[in-house]
Amino acid sequence: MRHQLFIDGQWRSPVKGGTFPVVNPATEEVIHQAPAGTAEDIDLAVKAARRAFDSGAWPRMSGRERAVYLRAIAERILERKQELGRLEVIDNGKPLPEAVWDMEDTAGCFSFYAALAEELDDNPQETITLSEPRFSSKVVREPIGVAGAIIPWNYPLLMASWKVAPALAAGCTMVLKPSELTPLTALELAAIAEEVGLPAGVLNVVTGLGPEAGQPLSEHPDVDKLAFTGSVPTGAKIMAAAARDIKNVSLELGGKSPFVVFADSDIDKAVEWIMFGIFWNQGQVCSATSRVLVEESLYPALMERLITEAAKIRIGDGLEDGTLLGPLVSKGQYDKVLAMIERGRSEGATIAYGGKRPSGLDTGYFLEPTILTDMDEDSFVWREEIFAPVVCVKPFKDESDAIRMANDSRFGLAAAVMSKDRERCERVARAFRAGIVWINCSQPTFTEAPWGGYKQSGIGRELGRWGLNNYLEVKQITAFESDEPWGWYIK
Ligand code: NAD
Repeated sequence: MRHQLFIDGQWRSPVKGGTFPVVNPATEEVIHQAPAGTAEDIDLAVKAARRAFDSGAWPRMSGRERAVYLRAIAERILERKQELGRLEVIDNGKPLPEAVWDMEDTAGCFSFYAALAEELDDNPQETITLSEPRFSSKVVREPIGVAGAIIPWNYPLLMASWKVAPALAAGCTMVLKPSELTPLTALELAAIAEEVGLPAGVLNVVTGLGPEAGQPLSEHPDVDKLAFTGSVPTGAKIMAAAARDIKNVSLELGGKSPFVVFADSDIDKAVEWIMFGIFWNQGQVCSATSRVLVEESLYPALMERLITEAAKIRIGDGLEDGTLLGPLVSKGQYDKVLAMIERGRSEGATIAYGGKRPSGLDTGYFLEPTILTDMDEDSFVWREEIFAPVVCVKPFKDESDAIRMANDSRFGLAAAVMSKDRERCERVARAFRAGIVWINCSQPTFTEAPWGGYKQSGIGRELGRWGLNNYLEVKQITAFESDEPWGWYIK
């Protein structure tokens, strides 16, 4: 585990020399003291990224040249996937097979954007046909500049890759600030960048607390673009900071995503996708299907089966074989989630299953998979993100009732629908006010497809070619091709 920040291609101790503890959520032990970067370190990192962008080789290389580095990063991640996966488990708590899957996805993200960097060379410009024949016009795309990335703790390295890979592919340089709850693998990414010989200043990694390192990054005048994933309140602060200097900003925020299950659904399939939608990664997933709407006639049978299957989930340390549900990420998050469940109960919800620490697991931030029912539509637990393995289930009468309830939210990240009637699925998919819609499944995420939300779930899209566009400026170059004088002032 690393004790220094990675700035300008070098490992450096934070200017103020501070550290912060990293806790294994399964054991509650402090496993590391990570370097606590502050505004001074952010300033050094941004200046390094600025130099690398303004006068360095990176933005001037061809896409093919940059792709070689991105592919080398992907290879190193794959080679080290078990070890990096274990670091992720002791940092975040997730079961090891999930963490290793994340590492494969992370490597895949770097390879995907390597290919898009090459495509930039193949399509260097686009000719525009103008209504005025005396002019010609073309469009070229250029890297935005220095990007600041601030990321959360739920998929530490994967969330980093969603920003680092497209930014680097586009030719931007970057300062990455991981979450203080999970700083370990971002520093390993810096080590990998060093190993593959990424030019100094292209990727800088500064670990630290939100207000001490994240805020100065969001406010730094030399940052051209801010890419943020995290909560709505922090997203609002980032947007306000970006507004001051008119920085380009993309936000991936929270969700309270609905899953509408019609009565003709296969009950096994419905229950499994609900479980994948809310128990994977301890439900600490922005797109988690945390509101399940079940057609009235199926509701009793589905509830019975869901409770039976939830009770079988093996809870424990993510490093233990067979664990399907690890601990929540931190004491702070654990206390918050228990208080939210309590609030649900006090507002009238029934705890159909779970809701407390599992017996026999006295240490660690463990919570039983939790199923809440009978809550009002205006109750806190139905409306607000809990970010835990806590699902709220409600019956609905008919399709229009389901769509109304699904869309009645300030969030609009994801939504899912299940039915044997494919036409109905397509109709409901169109009616959802959400950026990501799943039919007959919930959660599978693909690097090729756009990711992002409507309403308060964010601004912009990551992944796919949309993710690359986040880091590209569009420039029109228009030429007057005629020998005729323009003839407005001088006839
Ligand atoms: P958070 O907003 O508390 O923190 C996110 C990051 O912001 C951390 O790195 C933190 O240090 C930093 N930060 C905190 N205060 C800051 C400030 N004043 N200025 C700048 N940076 C600051 O969120 P979290 O608890 O880490 O993550 C959970 C949230 O993230 C959930 O709401 C979840 O829905 C959301 N999320 C969204 C997506 C998505 O793709 N839409 C993905 C993962 C998580």
